[in-house]
Amino acid sequence: MSDLLERLRGRGWRLTAQRRVVAEVLDGDHVHLTADEVHARAASRLPEISRATVYNTLGELVTIGEVIEVATDGRAKRYDPNAHRPHQHLVCSRCGAIRDVHPAGDPLADLPSSERFGFTVSDVEVTYRGLCPDCVTA
Ligand SMILES: [Zn+2]
Ligand SMILES: [Zn+2]
Repeated sequence: MSDLLERLRGRGWRLTAQRRVVAEVLDGDHVHLTADEVHARAASRLPEISRATVYNTLGELVTIGEVIEVATDGRAKRYDPNAHRPHQHLVCSRCGAIRDVHPAGDPLADLPSSERFGFTVSDVEVTYRGLCPDCVTA
C-alpha cells in the first residue's frame, strides 16, 4: 500500500474534505492517474470539488514530495503516490497501463564513471516498454 493518507497525517498536512478526497483517490499501489482522472474520481465522491482545487492539491503534494509526477512519452502527466520507494516504470505501448517495478540492479550505479562526463548524477528514470498481458492476447 502506498499509505499516502497515513504519511500526510503523520506530517500534519491539513486534511480538508477536498484534500482528503484527492489523497484517497491517489492512495494505493500502481496508481498513476492523470489530473483529469483524479478530478473525475474525486468528483464522484465530492461533487462540488473543482478542477482548480484538484490541480492545486496535486501541485502541493508534489512540492512536499509525497507524490511524484511521471511523464510518459507525450501522454498527459501522471501522479504517483509511491514517492518514497525508488522505482521504475513498466509501460504498455498499446494501452498505456503502468506498473511500478524494481530492477534487480541499481540503474544509477550502472552508469560507469567514464560515461558521467564529470556530472554529479543523482537520479535516474528507466521506462521498460512492451505489451501488457491484455494487449498481448488482444
Ligand atoms: Zn496494454
Ligand atoms: Zn510509479
